Amino acid sequence: MLEVKNLNVHYGSIHAIKNISFDVKQGEIVTLIGANGAGKTTILQTLSRMIKPTDGMILFKEQDIEKVSPQKMVSMGMGHVPEGRRIFAQMTVLENLEMGAYSRKSNKAEFNKDLELVFKRFPRLKERIKQLAGTLSGGEQQMLAIGRTIMSHPELILLDEPSMGLAPILVDEIFNIIEEINKTGTTILLVEQNANRALQIADRGYVLETGKIVIQGKAKDLIENDDIKKAYLGG
Ligand code: ATP
Repeated sequence: MLEVKNLNVHYGSIHAIKNISFDVKQGEIVTLIGANGAGKTTILQTLSRMIKPTDGMILFKEQDIEKVSPQKMVSMGMGHVPEGRRIFAQMTVLENLEMGAYSRKSNKAEFNKDLELVFKRFPRLKERIKQLAGTLSGGEQQMLAIGRTIMSHPELILLDEPSMGLAPILVDEIFNIIEEINKTGTTILLVEQNANRALQIADRGYVLETGKIVIQGKAKDLIENDDIKKAYLGG
């Protein structure tokens, strides 16, 4: 589904991503884990074409995306739930979900069907359909950000730190939802600082340190890895 080869990204003189290669296969949950500043967000923004890489190749569904616009990435089936949620605070819950469906140009019947799907997954959003998104709690905003992306029918969802700032009980809920979305056939690339939780639901993982992949493997092996335990899993 996604193949990244020898990717380099610079911010001016800062070499943020250093010759990274990785892949995500259809149906997988793959996680990128690493400390603050390791380059996780930069990778996701590069994949969804918001940042231009210095060099390297990105293939999405076997297509080179070098010249594809960020809008076109959405209609090709890549959904991005950015860090910090970035919902439209001054719009209602419903209006935010409508924005998510915009790229698909779906008719009213399709739109209503998708909306039902989102509300089935997030009943709390249905109760708050007319509420301004900026007044939702942190967890509800995260649900809305994911729901908005679901409205665009993605085949691959890039999720940037969905657990950030959430109470433990909501973290459980969000991770359960990610697993459910994956089970219905959507491939997931999950960026997390909460390495433990991410590895519990992932098939495979890559560990990033200052812009480089230092360890990669099956999630169940990474959870048992002593170096990872020490550095990322709290002992
Ligand atoms: P966090 O978990 O804290 O969000 P991250 O792993 O997502 O971290 P990035 O945000 O991708 O890391 O940052 C990678 C590196 O690139 C950092 O050193 C950061 O300071 C730098 N960086 C990110 N955005 C910019 C920018 N717009 N201009 C200059 N440097 C940047």
